[in-house]
Amino acid sequence: MPTCLPLVLRRCRTCASEHFRADGKFRVNANHKLLDVWLLVLCTSCGETARLTVLERMNVRAVPPELLDRMHDNDPELAAELLQDPVVRRRNRIALDWDNAWRLDTAGSDYLDRDAIDVSVRFAARIPVRPVRLIAEGCGLSRAEVERLIAEGKLVSAVRLSGKLSGDFTFTLKR
Ligand SMILES: [Zn+2]
Repeated sequence: MPTCLPLVLRRCRTCASEHFRADGKFRVNANHKLLDVWLLVLCTSCGETARLTVLERMNVRAVPPELLDRMHDNDPELAAELLQDPVVRRRNRIALDWDNAWRLDTAGSDYLDRDAIDVSVRFAARIPVRPVRLIAEGCGLSRAEVERLIAEGKLVSAVRLSGKLSGDFTFTLKR
């Protein structure tokens, strides 16, 4: 689950840094009946503000009032939702850096000495992580041990455990 907002990867025009931080501030601009809304992000190096387009020339009546309220209130949860929206990311040509912005919660370690366990992993946000890393951390194993268990067919899953995942999956671990 996320512990804070991820960093936004985007090149700063002032200092060439590639990291911006969103602190949940929005700018709402109404021109006649048309609405522009941006999510503001700050360069982590020089503090320069950049604007990520959220709504562009939208008719005010097409925007749900509660959504507009959240933007006016600078709702950090809305900022988190928007950053995770692939449409917003594509439109603004940004990627996210989730390093140090999430944590793994487990149901404890009591069950780990059983012969076989079925584990389901749920993502509270679509955070791309290596399942090998999650399994190692959650089961108290080294990553090399996890790789070995996969190779020996003792750790199996319907999904590919190499590479990165950002959605729920299950696995079975046999000893
Ligand atoms: Zn900068």
